[in-house]
Amino acid sequence: MTDAPAVMPAFDGATPEMLPDKDKIYFNDYATLVQQQGMLQDHVRTSVYQFAVYENKDDFRGKRVLDVGAGTGILSFFCAKAGAAHVYAVEASGMALKAEKLAAGNGLKDTVTVLNQRVEDVRLDERVDVLISEPLGIALVNERMLESYLVARDALLKPGGKMYPDHSVLHAAPFCDEALYNEQVQKAQFWSTQNFYGIDLTPLQTDAHDFYFSQPVVGHVAPHTLIADSVRHDFDFNTMTLKEIQTFTMEVEYRMTAITQLHGIALWFDSRFPGSQRQVFLSTAPHAPLTHWYQVRCLLKAPLPVGPGHVVRGTLRFEANESRGYNVHCALVNANTGVEAENTVVTQCALHHFQYTSQQSVAYAGEAASAAYYGTTPSYPGQAEAASGEAAAQSGA
Ligand code: SAH
Repeated sequence: MTDAPAVMPAFDGATPEMLPDKDKIYFNDYATLVQQQGMLQDHVRTSVYQFAVYENKDDFRGKRVLDVGAGTGILSFFCAKAGAAHVYAVEASGMALKAEKLAAGNGLKDTVTVLNQRVEDVRLDERVDVLISEPLGIALVNERMLESYLVARDALLKPGGKMYPDHSVLHAAPFCDEALYNEQVQKAQFWSTQNFYGIDLTPLQTDAHDFYFSQPVVGHVAPHTLIADSVRHDFDFNTMTLKEIQTFTMEVEYRMTAITQLHGIALWFDSRFPGSQRQVFLSTAPHAPLTHWYQVRCLLKAPLPVGPGHVVRGTLRFEANESRGYNVHCALVNANTGVEAENTVVTQCALHHFQYTSQQSVAYAGEAASAAYYGTTPSYPGQAEAASGEAAAQSGA
């Protein structure tokens, strides 16, 4: 821990007051059916949540459940159908009204109570047995909704109550992608025009380069572009503090096996549902079936040359910002050559640019089972078997 404030401004020179009302934009987005539909239609996401609940009915039957950020109420309805005694579907945005319509239309009005509130403002007579939520953003932490999940844990969950999910792992692996790097350079190139309608744009050349390289690249990462195994950072939602989620540092060390260019760091996450009958996992890894979270790449401002046997060390420092995102500072050094590379990438809660479209849904699961890609180490014991269906077969499910 340092003395640095936990929450940083998103942009140099812009004070939080100057930025748009981040929460208003955020909740207005989630009040739209198109936004909710995009998540519902991510079939990996919705299926895994349904499996987590329906394969663990013992954890829900007769229980009081609270759904943090219910959206359309889909997770609340799963819990109700799994036999929950009562479900509080807490949704801050106007989508709460739509959730009520669905509850009524599905005959679940008596079991599911929709609360159109921020979970931070909810007060209940009695704590609940289970919290369920889908507070996961790109690179896990973007949107900063995990903080609300932890607030709900402290205020509304019984001691020892279950959290669905209760744990996530953020992975960071170096990649080589010359085409991506050149594309960003090319975009900035416009500002090196000396005569644009008679105006010299070159005074903004460096700003343009910095801007494009400060943007996270959200999209699928081809597994073969990863050039070393990922380093992991664990998030135990049962025990972690708000501070630990607002600022954290990943110390990384990567062993290189070939001459290549390290263009940046790819991020993705896995999550665990602590079912007492069967643990269920969600993976957003490059080799797993694609989800609307894709993967996130942070480019370096200049590539780092690496060779076989080289060790690349450094830090990835994540600091929550005022745009419901994170400033990610990457600082790497090739320990063998002493050459350094760094960059700061700024994420924010602008959700539209990674809207899910079904054309991009490519299943890599079969490929991953047979090929030894870097960065494919499962986050959890039993995760690989669960993905290939072995665990289900063994448990007779
Ligand atoms: N549970 C739904 C929606 C997930 S998206 C599903 O799985 O499909 C996250 C939802 O949480 C959004 O609808 C958003 O408006 C809501 N949300 C985010 N922060 C919240 C908070 N602090 N209190 C209540 N709702 C919140």
